[in-house]
Amino acid sequence: MKITAVETEVSERPVPHRFRWRAGLPGSGETNVTTKLTVRTDQGTDGVAYGPRGPILVDLVDRRLRGALLGADPLLKEDLWHRVWEIDRIEELPIYALGLADIALWDLTAKLAGLPLYQVLGGYRDRIPAYASTVTFETTEEYLDVADQCLDHGFRAIKLHAWGDHRRDAKLCQDLRAHVGPDIDLMYDGSAGFDLLEAIYLGRALAEAGYLWYEEPMREFNIEAYRRLGEKVDVPLLSGETSDGAHYNIADFIARGGADLVRTSTHYKGGVTGGLRVAHLADAFNLRAEVHGGGPPNLHLACAIPNTTYYESLITANPIVVEAGIGRDGAISPPTVPGIGWPADVDA
Ligand SMILES: [Mg+2]
Repeated sequence: MKITAVETEVSERPVPHRFRWRAGLPGSGETNVTTKLTVRTDQGTDGVAYGPRGPILVDLVDRRLRGALLGADPLLKEDLWHRVWEIDRIEELPIYALGLADIALWDLTAKLAGLPLYQVLGGYRDRIPAYASTVTFETTEEYLDVADQCLDHGFRAIKLHAWGDHRRDAKLCQDLRAHVGPDIDLMYDGSAGFDLLEAIYLGRALAEAGYLWYEEPMREFNIEAYRRLGEKVDVPLLSGETSDGAHYNIADFIARGGADLVRTSTHYKGGVTGGLRVAHLADAFNLRAEVHGGGPPNLHLACAIPNTTYYESLITANPIVVEAGIGRDGAISPPTVPGIGWPADVDA
């Protein structure tokens, strides 16, 4: 089998519910720009992947990726993964571009197998609990209101993205714990908003409130800072979401004591191939690899591996709008059609 065409198609749609993150970070724009990548073969089966920020991906496909893929056997995904890795050495690819082609090739592989992707990857479960991952809301009262709506829907776990003020965020986290009681899993995501001193203050508050994990309080360049943070706080640190280097980098986070749980994903860790590598690496250390972000490829990954707890589902509006597929049990199942099973309204 040979790859005969590599096509891109950019689309731009209005963002249904505009939102923001912590102070200082850009929030959603008014529109989403996505790139659809289609890998065509001489046997008629195609593989499809979607990525963000259209023009950047189109440029990389035109200048680098198409040339690496055309004429190659699409089933030799390890070989193609390393070809992209070599391109990364020259281009320093955006983290979301590293796995774009790999995701399309796994879609193709699963279609050829006639199986949903998670079964091809090993298959651990066909349903997984989701957590409600909030955007940043205005007041504590609004967060508690959103939390009530999430629990009413059936979610049993909530993660906060908050304001980026360590004292105010710490108080919010404790207020939320008091509000929902001890039986709901709570997590906090700092989106790299703090220095070490602030991160220690916040981490101690989260430990007191019994949070399940403390995610990315600082930029992930300096693993030593995470190791020192881990010495000072008792809440489990979830590290390695945005760090470059896929499993090579996560290996150092683990070896140097900068992570109690690690991040994996299909879109930031080099596609399905990279996401699996991180998950299996963590498993060797009896660590969980929590899957970052939603979408069908991440859902398949989460259902393919044993050492992950939840599927991440964003809550971007109040009143809440729950992602299609999340039931009243707060859980979600991956698509059952062969391949990834991209939905028809994928841009939404
Ligand atoms: Mg995060």
